[in-house]
Amino acid sequence: MKTAVVGGGAAGFFLAVNLKEMMPAMEVVIFERSHHVLAKVEVSGGGRCNCTNSFDSVTDLSHVYPRGHRFLKRLFNNFDYQDAYRWFEQHGVPLVTQDDDCVFPQAQDSHAIIDCFLSLARRYHIEIRKGVRVDSLDQLRDFDNVVVTTGGSPKGDGLRWLAVLEHEIETPVPSLFSFSIADEHLHALQGTVVNDVTAMLVGTKIRATGPLLITHWGVSGPAILKLSSHGARYLAEQNYQSPMSIRWLPMQDEEVAALLYEQGVKQPKKQLTTYSPLGLQQRLWTYLVEKALASRAQIRWAELNKKDVNRLVNVLLNDTYQLAGRAPFKDEFVTCGGVSLKAVNPATLESRHVPHLYFAGEVLDIDGVTGGFNFQAAWTTAYTVALSISNNR
Ligand SMILES: Cc1cc2nc3c(=O)[nH]c(=O)nc-3n(C[C@H](O)[C@H](O)[C@H](O)COP(=O)(O)OP(=O)(O)OC[C@H]3O[C@@H](n4cnc5c(N)ncnc54)[C@H](O)[C@@H]3O)c2cc1C
Repeated sequence: MKTAVVGGGAAGFFLAVNLKEMMPAMEVVIFERSHHVLAKVEVSGGGRCNCTNSFDSVTDLSHVYPRGHRFLKRLFNNFDYQDAYRWFEQHGVPLVTQDDDCVFPQAQDSHAIIDCFLSLARRYHIEIRKGVRVDSLDQLRDFDNVVVTTGGSPKGDGLRWLAVLEHEIETPVPSLFSFSIADEHLHALQGTVVNDVTAMLVGTKIRATGPLLITHWGVSGPAILKLSSHGARYLAEQNYQSPMSIRWLPMQDEEVAALLYEQGVKQPKKQLTTYSPLGLQQRLWTYLVEKALASRAQIRWAELNKKDVNRLVNVLLNDTYQLAGRAPFKDEFVTCGGVSLKAVNPATLESRHVPHLYFAGEVLDIDGVTGGFNFQAAWTTAYTVALSISNNR
């Protein structure tokens, strides 16, 4: 029997290797359109490959998989993050879990995973045909099974041949990007990190909490990437011009107001802008005071009146910006959308339209936030397909 794997990325290799372990006699060929396999694994996680997550802080899968969480929950019975952890360690890639729950190779180098896959592919005689783009099943007539692991396709061009085969497609849009904001005074604060902010898309319930990084084009960091993931489709519909608000402090209005009044008593003679009382960096504090109080920003703490306090509380806890698009860098990590989950059997990931055709990885309409969740989805779906093919023998 012969299986063709279309796409030499994370899901493609994981599938090929596991299929050979389950069915050593299966002939497996990986078709890769470029001359460089596992390219995304190589650059992932800043070259360290955040290959899964301990899931210790995950209380609800929908928080980390905006698309596909119900589907994955079931597939985790076949292969979950603990299985992935064990798999890599048993295949010679020791892992470490960071304090933030992200899991990396102990070598802190994505090549640990690439070398593992390539050496297993050699050992199992998996053929890798590079420079071959597959866009029709006619190219693969000799094969008994075909697995599509072509990854995300933000412009949708890689999905056309699958749509021709009747598969429903969820319109692809980018996810995991940072935001442009046209505000030079904010840009001047580039490099500032605030650890516990909540960013919200105004007029929606879409929000995300975590560290935020101010950049020379706007904002980035985990909270913003998470917000872009949960809001991927909404933001695309708004042409990335939505208003967004930032809650700079994890506090309630009354608590912030009380702390501000307290400063008026503690240091009445100090100028408001020169002392940051709430743990925000001095430069950011000055920027926010100037934004809130404009011409009154230079007052002393003793002069702070009720109106000033209300304005400050409003800027500290509901600081609104108009987004001016996605950041001008191609830093999208994943695609939201792809082959609809309606198009596949949820237990086997076999196409409902073409027998013996399967899907795994980001080509499916499953994607997660940062933290190793996207690779975990690739491992889980790829393992499931290997299992389905071997059960179908
Ligand atoms: C910069 C960056 C950093 C990332 N870091 C992380 C991280 O640390 N942790 C995490 O969990 N996720 C991370 N991701 C996301 C993760 O890389 C992807 O979710 C994951 O690679 C998806 O695996 P895949 O096999 O489905 O697709 P891919 O890894 O994209 O592989 C698809 C392969 O198919 C090939 N291909 C496409 N079309 C065809 C065709 N028609 N014929 C033949 N070959 C084809 C492509 O060239 C590619 O090699 C990162 C992504 C990027 C871009």
